[in-house]
Amino acid sequence: MMKDEIIKGVFIKKGKKEGKTIAIFGGIHGNEDVGVKMIDKLCEKLEIDTGTVYLAYGNLEAIKKNKRFTETNLNRCFDEDNGCKTYEEKRAQELMSVLDKCEALLDLHSFTNPYGEPFAICEENAFDIARQFDVGVVSSGWSKMGGGNDGYMYNQGKVGICLECGPHYKLNESMQRAELAVDSFLKYFNLS
Ligand SMILES: [Zn+2]
Repeated sequence: MMKDEIIKGVFIKKGKKEGKTIAIFGGIHGNEDVGVKMIDKLCEKLEIDTGTVYLAYGNLEAIKKNKRFTETNLNRCFDEDNGCKTYEEKRAQELMSVLDKCEALLDLHSFTNPYGEPFAICEENAFDIARQFDVGVVSSGWSKMGGGNDGYMYNQGKVGICLECGPHYKLNESMQRAELAVDSFLKYFNLS
């Protein structure tokens, strides 16, 4: 299936039929392989019938360096008035311009703690979707803090879900969880 790069590291795929527009992000934190590998895979293999999906690599510079971020935590920069000075603040502006076209976001993360349990972060308007993911915990109330991309969506009445897929080092297991989540997310919005 054709994909076009609309902004550096952001790809678009369109189904034949009109439908909803959603975004899937990975690598908002550059050292989190699960999301980055999932975006690789979706760019290569994802086929949709309906609607539009934006696939984005989050923090391009940090991904290159395999670091969480270069100057500031990108997931604290999703605010139109972020100052636009650091690399991450500038990148957040680009990614917000993508989110402004979308009604829902699934942002894929992973974590260091080898014993940590996977969980989702979202608000009540996304509980139905997050319940379909293979996670025991759904955490909410974070969007008030500001700067996160899930909250950026929620504060505009849209769906934003941050999924912590599991430990980085359990790559296969965390990838499977990411895949399942992407699947339910696409189905929920009738893209596939
Ligand atoms: Zn993260």
